Amino acid sequence: MKIFYSKHFPPKDFGAINLLGMVIVRKDYGRLSEAEKNHERIHTRQMLEMLVIFFYLSYGIEWLIRLIQYRDRLKAYYNISYEREAYRCMDDLSYLKRRRPFAFIHYYRRRK
Ligand SMILES: [Zn+2]
Repeated sequence: MKIFYSKHFPPKDFGAINLLGMVIVRKDYGRLSEAEKNHERIHTRQMLEMLVIFFYLSYGIEWLIRLIQYRDRLKAYYNISYEREAYRCMDDLSYLKRRRPFAFIHYYRRRK
């Protein structure tokens, strides 16, 4: 995974963004931890499964659905299925070795 550091991108609300498997991190955010790198690797896997374009499309659509549901931009972001999976599993550094394909689908409904 290639990581780039940038002064002005992504916008201030985000620490890092994954574009086609390349991760761009805001310089003022600092270095990514191993768990954060794992988070981005999980997104890269999701992207490949969704043939990239459908990942970004469904990501945006689900964010809008969550925005209506939660009426809060940040809450909407944290509750996108892709983010739920990535946040819940990022601390498990061997997660991707045993992850089943399309595992993010199981995160569409919130699990207790
Ligand atoms: Zn994420």
